[in-house]
Amino acid sequence: MNTDRQPVLGILGGGQLARMLTLAATPLGVKTLVLDNAADACAGQISPLIRADWEDHNALLAFAGQVDVVTFDFENVPVTAVRRLAKHVPVYPNPEVLAVVQDRLSEKKLFRECGIATTAFQVVNDRTGLDAALKAIGVPAILKTRRLGYDGKGQFRLKTLEDAEAAWSSLGDFALGHGLILEAFVPFDRELSVLAVVGRDGQCHTWALTGNWHIDGVLSLSLAPAPGNESLREQATTLVHHLAKRLDYVGVLTLELFVKDGQLIGNEMAPRVHNSGHWSIEGSRTSQFENHVRAVLGMPLGDTGMRGHAAMFNWIGSLPDEKAVLATVDAHWHDYGKQPRQGRKVGHTTVCAPDLATLRMRVGTLAQALGRQDQASPLTKHQGYGPAN
Ligand code: AMP
Repeated sequence: MNTDRQPVLGILGGGQLARMLTLAATPLGVKTLVLDNAADACAGQISPLIRADWEDHNALLAFAGQVDVVTFDFENVPVTAVRRLAKHVPVYPNPEVLAVVQDRLSEKKLFRECGIATTAFQVVNDRTGLDAALKAIGVPAILKTRRLGYDGKGQFRLKTLEDAEAAWSSLGDFALGHGLILEAFVPFDRELSVLAVVGRDGQCHTWALTGNWHIDGVLSLSLAPAPGNESLREQATTLVHHLAKRLDYVGVLTLELFVKDGQLIGNEMAPRVHNSGHWSIEGSRTSQFENHVRAVLGMPLGDTGMRGHAAMFNWIGSLPDEKAVLATVDAHWHDYGKQPRQGRKVGHTTVCAPDLATLRMRVGTLAQALGRQDQASPLTKHQGYGPAN
């Protein structure tokens, strides 16, 4: 790294994750440079941004020449482009990690190699293959695109065998290009995620286990630490450590898990900072964003301990009343500077408290003021865990 000037962190993708990485990098004396194919990418409001297509070789070379290290705000950057970049500048996590996570099949194989249980699955390449897979797996099941799916997109839930035709109409086109995968539906008791950060020297820390609730496949609420027994935390920590070691990983790594009858089942992983770790900005001694910046730049990692209890609400489609959030004790407003649009993540709020009872009270009052009692109900109506979905 160039030592006579401020280090520059290059970020591929300019969404809210790049924006929050920039916000964390600035006090560390680290500059950022974002590359995105959209000129209005929201990280560009607070960081210099190069607008270029992923396949624009010259733009990528120019980008590499201006940064000390490259990292990601999203994982669907073409691997060939990233491998090319890695010849000119260090890239963390390494490009081979992207190659694995861009395909649900290779991701599931990796999970099994690392001792992470998965639900039953079958590859589907054509309509007959879907029938064969349904015969093997049964219903309920979920048909998913192997590539480019996120936030529940590129998925079709089959409740009965009669849903096969509708599933094929919805996703069959993907079978030709990138293939599909049919997964047995997991009637999970709850969903968790575990976030780890790995330094360039191999040092690894994890944050508290996080409980997650989704609506229509999109994260709605996260709660940390997730109430539950200590043995789950130990198991999840061991699993994410195995993954990190196997992948020679540097940076923040997220593993999403289902819990069924006390057993952990791997759903998917993200090679980056993750929505379910946003609470760590105010709820942890060092946020996922700061520790990711520290890790990829080879700095010492920060303490990942909790400051208390935290609940994170995603604002999807549009933002609620900012004043009601700001009027709540230890509640924190994050506006991503995006245009409101149906299904789009436009911001989030984290509410913190020294204990779970106080958190429940603060969240209950805020949810009522915002008319969001449903979104808060897993925390307010139940003892930490409500219905799974
Ligand atoms: P994904 O994009 O694969 O993480 O899916 C988004 C959400 O859909 C997950 O967080 C779960 O709530 C749900 N989901 C995905 N796969 C399954 C499955 N095999 N069984 C039950 N629920 C699932």
